Amino acid sequence: MAVTLDEKLEPIFHDVLRRNPGETEFHQAVHEVLETLGPVLVKYPEFAEKKVIQRICEPERQIIFRVPWMDDKGEIQINRAFRVEFNSALGPYKGGMRFHPSVYLGIIKFLGFEQIFKNALTDLPIGGGKGGSDFDPKGRSDAEIMRFCQSLMTELYRHLGEYTDVPAGDIGVGQRELGYLFGQYKRITNRYESGVLTGKGLNWGGSRARKEATGYGTVFFAHEMLKARGDSLEGKTVVVSGSGNVAIYAIEKCQQLGAKVIACSDSGGMIVDEQGLDLDLIKRIKEVERRRISAYVEARPKARYVEDGNIWTVPCDVALPCATQNELNGKDAKTLVENGCIAVAEGANMPTTPEGIKIFQDAKIAYGPGKAANAGGVATSALEMQQNASRDFWTFDYTAKRLEEIMVNIHRNCYETADEFGAPGNYVVGANITGFLKVAQAMDALGLI
Ligand code: GLU
Repeated sequence: MAVTLDEKLEPIFHDVLRRNPGETEFHQAVHEVLETLGPVLVKYPEFAEKKVIQRICEPERQIIFRVPWMDDKGEIQINRAFRVEFNSALGPYKGGMRFHPSVYLGIIKFLGFEQIFKNALTDLPIGGGKGGSDFDPKGRSDAEIMRFCQSLMTELYRHLGEYTDVPAGDIGVGQRELGYLFGQYKRITNRYESGVLTGKGLNWGGSRARKEATGYGTVFFAHEMLKARGDSLEGKTVVVSGSGNVAIYAIEKCQQLGAKVIACSDSGGMIVDEQGLDLDLIKRIKEVERRRISAYVEARPKARYVEDGNIWTVPCDVALPCATQNELNGKDAKTLVENGCIAVAEGANMPTTPEGIKIFQDAKIAYGPGKAANAGGVATSALEMQQNASRDFWTFDYTAKRLEEIMVNIHRNCYETADEFGAPGNYVVGANITGFLKVAQAMDALGLI
């Protein structure tokens, strides 16, 4: 880890290591938060006495279960699924489900831990949780995806509820999967409980602008960081990693704000299109045809596809990592800075390694960590819950406006908190402390929980 911890925090971290062996991503996420909490304990010694940090680091409940299902060949498959209900001081557990072969407890715990602070930053009443499975959706038929989702929900439903735990999507889980999950929940419980899941389809309880929200929110955050430095996104060259839901709508908002996005990627490689990416083409390839991003160059011969290419070597003003954790390391950060990059906003969760973060901060470029920069997705999930609770359906413009206000607010709070705690311009400090204080104060008010 790049930075050493305050002497009060070191033993807490040591305990996290001891109790959660092998969960390296979780260790990394905890360390990143603890690095910034030293000054908080000086100002609020009661949180140390009351062991609030130790309590926050221990999930309220962890559920691990078997998901048996039958593939199209009639062969039985067994996956493992998780739901980590991390903290409900501010509201029902809230956070997505991830389906990816790399999923294990350490990844779900890192995501759930980040989600606590991210959700607190939205100022909306949502606690933190996360779930997922080591199921690999790649190459699976619709019928297989449905059977898997139905089997998973047959266990998970008993832990959920609009006032208890409200999942959504994440990597590998989009509207199709959420539909199968919601359908099975409805069958088992005999309740059309819209507020139990978010990211739903628009004709079955979903919110307008939810699909766009994470990507749009990340770009709003990047724009605010630039504005705080007397600059803007207009005319900037942008590189976006990934080509999933977050990346696609980050590209869209960048283009709307007058920036030129020249590269994106998937796990196979990257495309570079110096003329600016053709977003309709990307949407067709990824959202309709569910193909690899390499298909882009078939229709745009002037663009190039680089198999296994490192997207951070493409010179840009603004970089938006929107793929997955630890996709941008110290070497990549150095390359970006050397190539003149002035801002990085994270659409993915924890995409930059600790070494990378340090390089961005030392170079004094604007760096927006995921728990602030990508909070627009979960914030709009909370707006979906509001609409469900009032049986209402807002317009796209109204919902998108609320999202923008929330992102502006998150940026302002992080900016001001960083100033207040003697770290001007440091959004990691700002986001961690703002989120932590909100959760810690609520936990304190609710008695020993
Ligand atoms: N998976 C998203 C995140 O990382 C969204 C969670 C949600 O909408 O509940 O925040």
